[in-house]
Amino acid sequence: MDAERVREDFPILGQQVHGHPLVYLDNSATTQVPEQVLSTVAEHYRTSNANVHRGMHYLAHASTDALEHARETVARFVGAADSSCVVFTRGTTDGLNMVARGLAHVLGPDDAVVVSLMEHHSNYVPWQQACFAKGADFRVAGLTAEGDFDEAHYAELLADGKVKIVAMTGCSNVLGTVTPVKRLAKMAHDAGALFVLDGAQIMRHGVVDIADLGVDFLSFSGHKMMAGTGIGALCGTRDALEMLAPRDFGGEMVGKVTQALTTWEELPLRLEAGTPNYVGAIALGAACDYLCALGREEIAAYESELVNHAVGVLGKIEGLHIAGSPKERAGLVSFTIDDVHPLDLCTLVDARGVALRSGHNCAQPVLDWLGTSSVARLSPAFYNTSAEIDYAAQQIDRAAQMLRAARPRK
Ligand code: PMP
Repeated sequence: MDAERVREDFPILGQQVHGHPLVYLDNSATTQVPEQVLSTVAEHYRTSNANVHRGMHYLAHASTDALEHARETVARFVGAADSSCVVFTRGTTDGLNMVARGLAHVLGPDDAVVVSLMEHHSNYVPWQQACFAKGADFRVAGLTAEGDFDEAHYAELLADGKVKIVAMTGCSNVLGTVTPVKRLAKMAHDAGALFVLDGAQIMRHGVVDIADLGVDFLSFSGHKMMAGTGIGALCGTRDALEMLAPRDFGGEMVGKVTQALTTWEELPLRLEAGTPNYVGAIALGAACDYLCALGREEIAAYESELVNHAVGVLGKIEGLHIAGSPKERAGLVSFTIDDVHPLDLCTLVDARGVALRSGHNCAQPVLDWLGTSSVARLSPAFYNTSAEIDYAAQQIDRAAQMLRAARPRK
C-alpha cells in the first residue's frame, strides 16, 4: 500500500489544524471520502439528478439506472445473491433496527435472543427492547479475560434451543476484537437461530462475503468505508429478507393500496419506503469500486500492520493500558492512562493536530466490563502512516505527562 500516493485522493488530509499537520486517527468513528466518490456525487447532481423509480423522463431513468447500478455493485461487494438482496438504509443503526423490528413477529415468551457483551448500543438496545416487548429472554454472551468472544459461554446460551436470533458484531468498536463470524453463524444455525451481523467496523477489514460467512443479515454504514454519511445497506439472503415485516410505510414500497388493504412491493423496494438517499447509494457504490481498486486484502493487511504498530508504540507509554488483547484485532486500539482523563488527553493532542476519540464509544456494557466509563481510541485507516502513529504516540505521552504534572498534589 502506497499510503503517500493514496493520501492524494483525500483532499481533507492535507490541511493543518491548530497550526499542525492534521493526523486523522478517528477512522472507527468515520472515514474520509476520496476525490473519486466526491466527484461521482457532484457529477450526479450536475448531470443526472432526478427522483428514482417514479418519473418516465430522461433524467428519471438516468438517476434510477445509477441507483440500481450502485445496488449491483454493493451486492457484488458483499456477496449477496443478487441486487434485490441489498436494501439501502441510513446506516448500520437503521438496518439493525429494521431487522429487530421486522423480526419481532418470530419472538414470543418462550424464545431468546443472544448478543455479545461488546456490542455497540445499536446492536444491543434494539434486541433488548424487542425482547422486553415480546417477553423473550435477552441473553448476553461474555468475553474471555483477553477480550475475545467467549465461545463456550455462547454454546451454553444456545444449548436449550430457545434462541431464535443471534446478533453479533464482526469487530468490537472498543476492543478491536474480530469475532469468528463464520463459526458463530454456523453454531447459531445449528441451534435453529438466525444470525445478524453488525458489519459497521469490518467492511474495510478484508472481504466480507455473506454467502461465505453464512450470515442471514449484514448491516453496515457507508461513512465507515469512504462513502460519506447518511447511507448504508442491509443485505441478506432472500429467505431472511423476506421474513422482515416492513417497518416504514409510504411511497414506492406498496403494490396496491385501497381502503380495505395494502399489498407490498417485492424486495428490496418493500423495505425502502419514501424517496431513498439515492445519491448516497451512488456514493456507496463508488466507494465499493474505490476499495476494490485499491485491493480489499491489501487494505486489510496494511491496516493490520498499522494497528500492530500502534499497539507496540502505545504499549511503551508509562501508565498506559490497552483495552483488551484479542487474538485478532482490527482497525483500532482503545486505552486508558493512569491519572489521565481520556477527554483531557484528546483535547491536548488535538491542539497538536491529532484526532482521536474519547468517551464510552456507544458501548457501555463493554466499558463496564473494562471497569471504566471512558477510553481514548486511536483508529488508523489505509491513508495513515506509521510515522503519523509515532507522532500521535509522542503527543499522547507528552499530554499525559503534562496532565499528571498539573494534578493537584494530595
Ligand atoms: N456498530 C458498531 C460496531 C459501530 O462501531 C458503530 C458506529 N460507531 C455502529 C454499529 C453504528 O453505526 P452508525 O452510527 O453508522 O449507524
